[in-house]
Amino acid sequence: MNSFNYERATAPEAAIHSGSAHNAKFLAGGTNLVDLMKYGVESPATLVDINHLSLNQVVASPDGGVTIGALVRNSDLADHALIKNQYPLLSQALLSGASPQLRNMATTGGNLLQRTRCYYFTDVSFPACNKREPGSGCAAIKGYNRIHAVLGQTDKGPASGETCIATNPSDMNVAMAALSAKVEVQGAHGKRTIPFSEFHRLPGSTPSVETALKPDELIVAVTLPPAKFSKNAFYLKIRDRNSYAFALISVAAGLEMDGGQVKSAGLALGGVALKPWREPDAERLLIGKPATIEVFKQVADTLLRGAKGYEHNAFKIEMAKQGVVRCLTLASQGTTEGTQA
Ligand SMILES: Cc1cc2nc3c(=O)[nH]c(=O)nc-3n(C[C@H](O)[C@H](O)[C@H](O)COP(=O)(O)OP(=O)(O)OC[C@H]3O[C@@H](n4cnc5c(N)ncnc54)[C@H](O)[C@@H]3O)c2cc1C
Repeated sequence: MNSFNYERATAPEAAIHSGSAHNAKFLAGGTNLVDLMKYGVESPATLVDINHLSLNQVVASPDGGVTIGALVRNSDLADHALIKNQYPLLSQALLSGASPQLRNMATTGGNLLQRTRCYYFTDVSFPACNKREPGSGCAAIKGYNRIHAVLGQTDKGPASGETCIATNPSDMNVAMAALSAKVEVQGAHGKRTIPFSEFHRLPGSTPSVETALKPDELIVAVTLPPAKFSKNAFYLKIRDRNSYAFALISVAAGLEMDGGQVKSAGLALGGVALKPWREPDAERLLIGKPATIEVFKQVADTLLRGAKGYEHNAFKIEMAKQGVVRCLTLASQGTTEGTQA
């Protein structure tokens, strides 16, 4: 491991100041960053420990939504009464991730920024990774790509020009996307709010730039709008092993029902792209329609349109379509407690 400076911040402004130094990184739960430092993927010159900032509250917002501090641990968030009762989709997604021990350490901000599990990214003995070494290529495209993306590999359509086919590994992010969360950030020049759909980036021509966050910006909170999907929500995670494994694909579905018809919907896919995949056209297909398999199949086809598989992951396209139908069906039948981990 490389040597590095360690600083403990006690106020956001001090953290931001220290974080603006060359090659500084914020340290939250450390469950991803420290692993990557041990692998030699990340080698920050300074670690700014933010664990002593007062960002660990979950509070009801005046608009009827909720504000989640960036340092709220995944286990505390999943178990929080307000989240369990009003945003069960988020609670289910969190409980499907990692293990109880990891969730006790992992934070909301760190989970948002956890990095891909692409083998070619995490193993520095592979020379080609545009994310690690811009311009070096993407070994996954012609390599072993079972866990990789089938959507959003290029801004110009799936025919050519892929620079990176990694996926975002977070379960929490998929639920946050379906719930239309917003990310509150603070930097040297003040505070700003980033809609969740704009927070994570597709690879385009700069796959090493993963989010809209600037290097010196600190995530202070995530906000959720007033809850609409408390009664009809489901997080479906499909993985090689039924516990303690990342998703091959996952689906977060929230439905606001009016009688037998869908009044509004939030739907996102995980494990298929470098960001949670949401498609407004697919959600529009649900509005005013009855909750039937036929409608859900049309939604799945629309959500997966343009998908492109590779040698080892083409199965994900059909798996995702069937997952969407199953998840929407389960959501329409009513929320159940999620205990998938
Ligand atoms: C064995 C294992 C299995 C796992 N399985 C799953 C799984 O099934 N599903 C899943 O979703 N996740 C899984 N995870 C990942 C885990 O959820 C993440 O490691 C965790 O959420 C990261 O949070 P952290 O607080 O530890 O982040 P850290 O490791 O501290 O930080 C991660 C990144 O975020 C940055 N950062 C942290 N907080 C802030 C902030 N407030 N502002 C700006 N930048 C910040 C750090 O600088 C760093 O770049 C697994 C992890 C392990 C080790």
